[in-house]
Amino acid sequence: MADTVELLNASAQCPCWSCGAMIGGADSYCRNCGKGQGARVPWQYKHWGVIVITLFGLGPFSLFFLWRSPVISRTAKFVYTALIMALTFWVLGSLRQLWLLYQAALSGAGILGS
Ligand SMILES: [Zn+2]
Repeated sequence: MADTVELLNASAQCPCWSCGAMIGGADSYCRNCGKGQGARVPWQYKHWGVIVITLFGLGPFSLFFLWRSPVISRTAKFVYTALIMALTFWVLGSLRQLWLLYQAALSGAGILGS
């Protein structure tokens, strides 16, 4: 009896979060695209993964992973998106300030040199 239940659970089909192919409910990895399922979702789709990517790598491009993530809730996605956009604008603003300083330094040096 217990074997039958287990068999039913294992054969229950559910769509892969990444490619949409039907896979077994008990499968840890998709048979079609190979993406981890459930607890084995790749790290870049988890909360800390998105944060790490934003801060140390791709910046706003982490939104791609964020919105494809099967483990982060819709509400959390909106919150993360707002935070990532704010951070991006802040960084761009800082870079612009640096650029203006650089330009000012250059023209200052030019005047001194001539
Ligand atoms: Zn898949």
